[in-house]
Amino acid sequence: MGEIIKLPENVANQIAAGEVVQRPASVVKELLENAVDAQATRIELRLRSGGIALVSVIDNGLGINSSQLALAFERHATSKLRNAEDLFHLSTKGFRGEALASIAAVSDVVLISKVADQSSAYAIRMRAGHQESIEETAFSQGTSVSVSHLFFNIPARKNFLKSVSVELKHCLDELQRVALLHEDVHFQCFHNDAIIYDLPISSRHQRIVHIFGAKYADRLVPVKEKTDRFSLSGYVIKPEFSKKSRGEQFFFINKRFIRSAYLHKAIIEAFEGLLHSGCHPGYFIEFDINKAAIDVNIHPTKTEIKLEDEYHVFSVLRAAVRHSLGRYQINAPIDFALNPTLTPSYQQVFSEAKTPKIKVSSTFNPFKQNELYPEAFSELYVETDAQQIRIDGQSDVKEELWNLDTMKSFQWANKFIVVSGAEKLLIIDQYRAHQRILYEAFLKKMTLEHLGTQQLLFHEIIDLDAKEWVVFETIETHLSDLGFEFERNSEVLVIKGVPEFFPHKESTSVFKRFIEEAQMMNSALSYSTADMAAKVLAKHSAVKKGVSLTPEAVTELLTDLGRCKEPYLSPFNKRIFVTVQETEIIQKLH
Ligand code: ADP
Ligand code: MG
Repeated sequence: MGEIIKLPENVANQIAAGEVVQRPASVVKELLENAVDAQATRIELRLRSGGIALVSVIDNGLGINSSQLALAFERHATSKLRNAEDLFHLSTKGFRGEALASIAAVSDVVLISKVADQSSAYAIRMRAGHQESIEETAFSQGTSVSVSHLFFNIPARKNFLKSVSVELKHCLDELQRVALLHEDVHFQCFHNDAIIYDLPISSRHQRIVHIFGAKYADRLVPVKEKTDRFSLSGYVIKPEFSKKSRGEQFFFINKRFIRSAYLHKAIIEAFEGLLHSGCHPGYFIEFDINKAAIDVNIHPTKTEIKLEDEYHVFSVLRAAVRHSLGRYQINAPIDFALNPTLTPSYQQVFSEAKTPKIKVSSTFNPFKQNELYPEAFSELYVETDAQQIRIDGQSDVKEELWNLDTMKSFQWANKFIVVSGAEKLLIIDQYRAHQRILYEAFLKKMTLEHLGTQQLLFHEIIDLDAKEWVVFETIETHLSDLGFEFERNSEVLVIKGVPEFFPHKESTSVFKRFIEEAQMMNSALSYSTADMAAKVLAKHSAVKKGVSLTPEAVTELLTDLGRCKEPYLSPFNKRIFVTVQETEIIQKLH
């Protein structure tokens, strides 16, 4: 080995530049982000030859004081980060203080800036990392950075650049990402003096339409969700407009564009069954996550990000998108108010349905154990426990999935609920719908509420075989978290208490069912024991096929389903309803 020397700064910068500056688009990204960080309300991007000849960004932001111009080009020089602690509370896009130094190391840069409290503007020229000059000049408030001759001193890099059109496309991708997030900034973009984008300050929806074209105006379905840990909002593109090419796929976390194969999968799952084969979903989703729960420091170009609690974000995203798609699927093509022509034909059915409540099973006796399965639980729901198991506390849901005042619904064949809209009928599987309702209600109770225990007057004794013991042990702690109280007494299990919300307090045979079910349940279907428990309980408590429902129960079921987060899939990923279009019926009548 030869002698060890410390690399001169310009060489070190050139090496670092390899990470930060890969192509003109990297320059576009860094300069646009600096302009946004400087609180500009107007940003102009000018490109020549796909950015290879020139990338220039002019903003009306805060500017750089003349005494700091040279410092801005030093590596690790930043105004955005003061100490290590700040790393966890970043609200700016930059923080590494590397971009200007890296860009200047491999190009010619002219930066002109003026701050509000200085009377004149100053221009600094950098070439291959060296300062050429600083001089007074004329410029209005803000900063202009022009980068030309990119990679002039690294021919190998320059040779790697693609055609003008490919480089231009990458530059425009970067512009889109920044512009999508900052609808409160007016962006203009020029290529070889021709204007490509003019994006005035607008709403997020309008910004998407301005960027991607007027036809997007009615292709976007809003998505919104808020939990105690984070919120998300944005749009997905209606499934019928999904594209064969990857199309528009944008995730932003805390105002940064990010890539995430994992979150992408959540969207794919949410679109399951709705996309034509080979098509990709389109989305613009922005997350706002507690900054301390994110590590942005993972990669210099910062499109990868490490999240704590990734699974939570995944499942909330999937549920929110499914919810929006379900809502859109039901509401958008049907306008219940607009087409009164269908109403009369159902008048009869509907008024008939208003007769007094009929008991589902007059012989039902909740204390008679052998009646419990398979039908009795459902009867219990309709007759006695309906209020108890309904999703209470979800009345905060603002929009309703159904408009129950204007549409007609009735039970058909003791299996389905038919809902009539203006142009189509929804045919809902009552068992699956009720599973969904109960599953969400149980899961909510289990995960969000403090669960009380109902002490049993008479302890129940359950025999478990060796295999059942194994299953029991794997879910034991979770069962006690749910509110079960038990004691192992040599080879038998003594049940002393059951959860307060448990639909049937009198019998613990449910408990045994539960263990049987846990044993059979495909573990791949469940994400956690709470999830599994909610699924088992929902499966067993839901009103089965073949049970006649009162009109009130039908309305209740529809109302509850409408409040569900994923109203169109059962907890076991089966479709809850199908639709029959008016046009399909007309075709059949031909
Ligand atoms: P970083 O953005 O990570 O801080 P940069 O190398 O991109 O690092 O920029 C260095 C510093 O130069 C920034 O911290 C900021 O103070 C200043 N700066 C760069 N661009 C602008 C701009 N357009 N307007 C105002 N200040 C800027
Ligand atoms: Mg920066």
